[in-house]
Amino acid sequence: MGASDPLVVVGLDNGGTSNNATVLDASGRFLVDRLVENPSRVLQGPTVAVESLAQALDNILEVTGSPRSAVAAVGLDSPGPADADGVISSKGSTNFSQPEWRGFDFRTALEDRLQLPVVYNNDGNAAALYAHHAHFGPIAVQRSSISVIVGTGLGGGVIEGGHVVRGAAGMAGELGHVHIPTNGLLNDGQPLPECNCGFAGDAESFASLIGIERNLLPYWLTRFPGHELGKLGSVKAAAKLVRGYAERGDPMALKIFEQQAIAIGRLFTIAANFTDPSAYFVGGGVVETTPQLREWFLATVREHTALREEQARVATFSLVPDLDMAGARGSAIAALASIQER
Ligand SMILES: [Zn+2]
Repeated sequence: MGASDPLVVVGLDNGGTSNNATVLDASGRFLVDRLVENPSRVLQGPTVAVESLAQALDNILEVTGSPRSAVAAVGLDSPGPADADGVISSKGSTNFSQPEWRGFDFRTALEDRLQLPVVYNNDGNAAALYAHHAHFGPIAVQRSSISVIVGTGLGGGVIEGGHVVRGAAGMAGELGHVHIPTNGLLNDGQPLPECNCGFAGDAESFASLIGIERNLLPYWLTRFPGHELGKLGSVKAAAKLVRGYAERGDPMALKIFEQQAIAIGRLFTIAANFTDPSAYFVGGGVVETTPQLREWFLATVREHTALREEQARVATFSLVPDLDMAGARGSAIAALASIQER
């Protein structure tokens, strides 16, 4: 063992409750085809969380029978906000609520603990990178894409030539906070949705669970008086039930999802005129649903993405695959790219 071991890289996806890990070999093949998780313990602070990630690495190497000496690099992703080097925002965040996390250099801390090079991406960018490579395979470096992932907020990323577009401060691809035109999108008397970031009328203010809770559901309930979801007493609880109602064909729930799909289409229209990507990917709760609702949602997004004829001929609309594994896999892809470019 040692110098003759074929190289591998490890991807570690750090989430609010668990870490998911994967191993990628130098030929670009994943050595595990399922979720391999351990508790992330981020609520116990950075020291404990870094230790949990080290355990995730040891565990995935055991599961895949890979010797530690073969690991050339590690990819780490976590929820933001963090900068391009993996320093958690000094303002703190939902996942990193402990004061010790503020301004914590997550990437360097893991690198020091593992004594291996660590490459950092935020979770949206890591998932976007995986969607891109899973779709394009060997021609990934010749293609560009944009991924939108609808969850509690709206995340995703922009990929150009197979690489994440990071920006000067690491804040490129913050798709949720891009303003979209609301003319013709807002219904009669509907107030301009507000986002937690302070903007009004940005993509996340429509297309996110928070957007449903804060903006879309309160408005649409006024248009559907007597709707069951208005009788729950908790808009937070009701917001989580909207998808189930949409799956059963509820007209109000479908209005809410239609508005989200149009908002994403308008965001993609901006992308079409900005980077003109080869592919547009959608992931998250809105498409982790029945095939019927998923197809309708994606078709509505596409219908509201205004492409020129030349663009429409070459553009693909598709789903972010294996979303539960996308962060770990995208992180591993980033780690592999980092050693191949050395
Ligand atoms: Zn925003």
